[in-house]
Amino acid sequence: MIYLDSAASTKVPAEVLTAITNAYIEAYGNSSSRTHRHGTIAAECIHSARQDITSLIGERPESLVFTSGATESNNLAILGLRQYFKQQRKKAHVITGATEHKSVLGPLRRLEDDGLIELTILQPTESGDIAVTDVLTVLKPETCLVSLMHVNNETGAETKVNEIADGLEDSDAIFHVDASQSFGKFNMSRLEHSRIDMVSMSAHKMFGPQGIGGLLLRRRNFKLPPIMPLLDGGGQERGLRPGTLPTALCAGFGCAAQMSKNSMSTWLDDVRRQKRLLLEELKSNYSVHEVAHNGSPYILSVMIEEINSEAALIALKNSVSVSNGSACTSQSFGASHVLKAMGFGEKECDSVIRFSFSPFEENFEDHFIEISRILKKAKY
Ligand code: PMP
Repeated sequence: MIYLDSAASTKVPAEVLTAITNAYIEAYGNSSSRTHRHGTIAAECIHSARQDITSLIGERPESLVFTSGATESNNLAILGLRQYFKQQRKKAHVITGATEHKSVLGPLRRLEDDGLIELTILQPTESGDIAVTDVLTVLKPETCLVSLMHVNNETGAETKVNEIADGLEDSDAIFHVDASQSFGKFNMSRLEHSRIDMVSMSAHKMFGPQGIGGLLLRRRNFKLPPIMPLLDGGGQERGLRPGTLPTALCAGFGCAAQMSKNSMSTWLDDVRRQKRLLLEELKSNYSVHEVAHNGSPYILSVMIEEINSEAALIALKNSVSVSNGSACTSQSFGASHVLKAMGFGEKECDSVIRFSFSPFEENFEDHFIEISRILKKAKY
């Protein structure tokens, strides 16, 4: 069996498992218990994880709010601004992209339905990214929020969020970037831009455990983005995300960040090679079109003209794990909203397969030839 669905969830390497186990053994106290040593040990463990994660983009540990994953981070970044939107003299304007994850589009539509925001949804370019000029064209004085993903989970398309941040220099709009598919993996220098106010991340997309993520909040003119918590509780995470922190998951996330710091360039060489080899193999047997060009090397999304992706997934099921859309959309059937936004027709959507890579899979080359052979069973 080979796993080629790392964009859905990554394998957890042994080092991360050890960090998690050690935290359960040595730091099982409640990090909010300030009166005893067990609490302090847990708090120290969490602080050091926070440091490892934030230092990946040159930020201070205090800038990170731990959450349960990017779905929660995106909801907090958007719904947390509800009060702020209400306080505006004119109706708040928000810009986003049609290819965003549903954890961004859903909360935005909810605010729009509640009459709180005017929403502009930008269509992607042919390559699946959101064009910098398109964002700047629709920007207006009432624009309160721009929420865009860095790397698309279905296609791997990369939006130049740093150039958009440059263009926002004269605007007051809050800039939120969903970096679930890039944080810890790819082109992270783009996320270092001081005009990006909030960054969503997810540990299980970067070789950490499931169930933990973060929302990074950057100060601009000494002020934090004006988000309010979605939950009431014990005041953890400076009141923005109350609830006892899962120390062991924080430790695993921190360890994954450390590994990323040490191995990022080797990982990139590795996944670039996998992507190139698989594409060559497929192209030598089928009419293959890459859905997004120059995107993340971790994701290869291809339309294979002569193949039905549903049949392909069934044929590959016992030997290769791949996806024909994001794991989240594949639960809601119907053509992917991302591919539809890119102008793909029903039949074309049905021919798209997403392979996503990890440096922790071995002997993948032998499997690529096998994949190509098995796909013949899924021909129309
Ligand atoms: N945003 C993007 C771009 C994603 O790929 C995902 C996961 N598919 C999410 C948000 C949601 O992340 P999580 O699973 O951590 O809630």
